[in-house]
Amino acid sequence: MFDLRTFRLWFDLLAQTFQSQREALNELDRVIGDGDHGYTLARAFAAADDEITNANPPDIGSLLDVAASALAENAGGAIGPLLAAFFAEGGVVLQNKKTCSMDELAEFFQNGAAAVSELGGARAGQKTLVDALLPAARVLVENRSSADPVDALEKALLAAREGAEATRQMPAVFGRAAFLGERSTGYLDPGAYSFTLIVEGLWFAASGKEGKRTDFQPEETQFVPAGKFINHPEQMVQEDNQGLALAYAGIVRYLEDGFLVRASPKAAGKVGLAMGHGGGHTPSMGGLVGMGLLDADVYGPIFTCASGIKIARAIQLADRGAGVVLLVSNHSGDVLNARMALRRASRMGIAVQPVYLGDDVATAPRSALDKRRGLGGLLFALKIGGAAAEDGQPLFEVVRLMEKTNLRTATLAVAVRAPTHPASGKPLFDLPVGQMEIGTGVHGEAGVYRGAMLPANQVVDLVLQRLLEDLGGLLQQSVVVFLNGSGGTSRMELNILYRRVFYALQEQGIQIAAGVVDSLFTTQEMGGFSLSLCAVDDELEEWWRRPALAAHFRWPVDRIWG
Ligand code: ADP
Ligand code: MG
Repeated sequence: MFDLRTFRLWFDLLAQTFQSQREALNELDRVIGDGDHGYTLARAFAAADDEITNANPPDIGSLLDVAASALAENAGGAIGPLLAAFFAEGGVVLQNKKTCSMDELAEFFQNGAAAVSELGGARAGQKTLVDALLPAARVLVENRSSADPVDALEKALLAAREGAEATRQMPAVFGRAAFLGERSTGYLDPGAYSFTLIVEGLWFAASGKEGKRTDFQPEETQFVPAGKFINHPEQMVQEDNQGLALAYAGIVRYLEDGFLVRASPKAAGKVGLAMGHGGGHTPSMGGLVGMGLLDADVYGPIFTCASGIKIARAIQLADRGAGVVLLVSNHSGDVLNARMALRRASRMGIAVQPVYLGDDVATAPRSALDKRRGLGGLLFALKIGGAAAEDGQPLFEVVRLMEKTNLRTATLAVAVRAPTHPASGKPLFDLPVGQMEIGTGVHGEAGVYRGAMLPANQVVDLVLQRLLEDLGGLLQQSVVVFLNGSGGTSRMELNILYRRVFYALQEQGIQIAAGVVDSLFTTQEMGGFSLSLCAVDDELEEWWRRPALAAHFRWPVDRIWG
């Protein structure tokens, strides 16, 4: 039998554990993901513990509800909504309860596992936290009539650890590690490992090891500057956005907690466009808030998607009474948080439609378009959908145009130099000097080809060939081209690359309806670029030509208009 005190202590211990394991978890995630797992959990469990202390919930169910919403609000990423869903099941099972029996604990874990699988779609054996959660839940169910709950928990902990350990042998199917496929084998799944820490915390709390609480000295988070002009790792995304809004006050306004909205909202009765995502890719997406583009945008922490709760708020901010399109770049964290946001916004009575955007040809074949990762090609759908919304087109029409645009978009990225994480200064991946990688993701997720660096023209030819093959029959006469710099590639190089794109397309008899050359979707100082093509038809081309004005994007670029 566990009581309210046990559960309080559990979260107290988890806040400490994730703080002290932060770097270790980042490191696990760095090898197969994007290196943020430790930051995410340290921040989220500190917030959960604080909110439990502040709210002082009278029963276990409400304590777990407080924890779930603190995690959902503060964690973001893929892990945030998944853990929130897990703890929220405990909130239901233990509603109004001041004690928790073994039976109830087993039910909590069992339902929690079901909720996580339902939300994330992962089953056992797919290298996710499910591989630690399911065995723990199974053991608790087997021991539901055990007279010794601490012993039962210890068994569950061992099962969770064994399950997590087994993820080393599995290739990832979900999350960012999925892009590594077979190459992710040999590595522990970060989410599975952190779930063992969650079970361990409960075991500690249940065995009455309260001493741990006072022994613990939170490690002083000394900020060591990593050669970047930032003030504090936790504030850099916010300060980035504040600076943007100060520099472009006539276009974009910053609201507390990471929201950016248009300085002059579009007229009532028009469809709004909203988005939520992670920070660190400046100037996207705040630099794309403006007329004919985004209405409201919300940032999560660096490289970590904003929470579903915040995205729901962004949807609300974008709503002008005619419904809202939520743009979702196809990454696991973004999709999971978007699902939560859609449910929430619909409950608020807003007509909201998601448009899932994936364009990276390196991540899945055209026959599995919905598996493609979102890259810079989302600019096309944003620009075209934004123009239609500005024109007063109804929701279904804006959605149709954006989906059509996405279908006709293909992107491939090339990296030549790894970026560093702005807080830790550590490279996001290892890429030896003189090597290049084709198919790199915006968080340094591994690509499909690695080899010696080639001359610019040859790199363009390789990439272009893949894109044209991919678009195949969709190609009519013209394409819109977007050459995006990854952050650390000079304008000089971009011009050299674009020159080749232009002539190569011309040689093949393909018209360039419009070309954009800019570093809009960056990954810090990553060296590289992505090339996106949109095989436009007359309809899409016409919408593309409409005017747009944001801090870092305007169209047309060669005409002055009021
Ligand atoms: P992100 O991938 O957004 O950076 P985190 O690094 O916080 O998120 O979490 C990564 C972990 O999330 C993975 O190790 C995996 O255990 C878990 N995960 C990701 N996607 C899923 C999913 N669809 N279902 C279950 N677990 C998932
Ligand atoms: Mg991660």
